[in-house]
Amino acid sequence: MSENNRLRIAIQKSGRLSKESQKLLKSCGVKFNVNEQRLIVHADNMPIDLLRVRDDDIPGLVMDGVVDLGIIGENVLEEEQIERQTLGKPAECVKLRELDFGACRLSLAVPNEFSYENASSLEGLRIATSYPNLLRRYMQEKGINYSDCMLKGSVEVAPRAGLSDGICDLVSTGATLEANGLYETDVIYQSMACIIQSAEEQEPGKQALIDKILSRMNGVVRARESKYILLHAPRETLDQIVALLPGAENPTVLPLNDDTDRVAIHAVSTEDLFWDTMEELTALGASSILVMPIEKMAG
Ligand code: ATP
Ligand code: MG
Repeated sequence: MSENNRLRIAIQKSGRLSKESQKLLKSCGVKFNVNEQRLIVHADNMPIDLLRVRDDDIPGLVMDGVVDLGIIGENVLEEEQIERQTLGKPAECVKLRELDFGACRLSLAVPNEFSYENASSLEGLRIATSYPNLLRRYMQEKGINYSDCMLKGSVEVAPRAGLSDGICDLVSTGATLEANGLYETDVIYQSMACIIQSAEEQEPGKQALIDKILSRMNGVVRARESKYILLHAPRETLDQIVALLPGAENPTVLPLNDDTDRVAIHAVSTEDLFWDTMEELTALGASSILVMPIEKMAG
């Protein structure tokens, strides 16, 4: 393999993480155009190549040092890590940060007619899953014997098709379970997307680029989680109003022209400002309340 000085980042080719992964990198200032036919995308403005692959391949590519970074669901990462540890293959990588998308949980579910008390109700039964290692870890912790039925897709139809008694599958809203006459019993793993780095030492130029991307990513995620709030408040309820602003630290308080009884407040809030809070603010005499998205944050 030829020596490559460009930073290689593996992202999902198509699926639930692909659009968000691309959007995140673009928000970090990486310019690129994806050609659906191509595996590799060269960034226009930085020495970065994106590798578009199946999500299952991403942890292994990073752990083997074939790519430098990867954006992946923690569920797939953890599954691959247990698999490799079992096989004695390299399973090292560094989780740089959790991201703000790809939320889901890996859960056990059984048919509606199944009378389930606790995980022991599954003793001796068959469970269909695409995550045999995470399932095994959970069942071993509980001391339950079971057999598995490995399916890469359509896990939710396995009980109806007579392939298994229950399933262990990813859930976000629960609509798929409901549509298939199943109900969720145990959450065995909570997952978000994350960015991982190969455990191999990087050459300094590449590491500097990784640090830059990561610091921008921190800023992008922080900005997406924050809101800029502007409002006018009576001086007499100022403290109560500031206390209501969720996660706002040190708001700026400015005088208003020709109005000595009221001030303007500017604050960055780390949480969503819900309608209930807006109504409480109004009840305390706040007016002209504006809640605005923040595009970038640094420092
Ligand atoms: P690929 O073709 O790349 O192998 P896939 O079918 O395995 O794709 P997707 O369904 O696109 O994978 O899901 C990718 C990741 O998205 C999951 O591993 C998980 O981390 C996350 N995710 C978020 N919500 C859900 C959900 N409701 N169901 C499945 N995955 C979800
Ligand atoms: Mg996959």
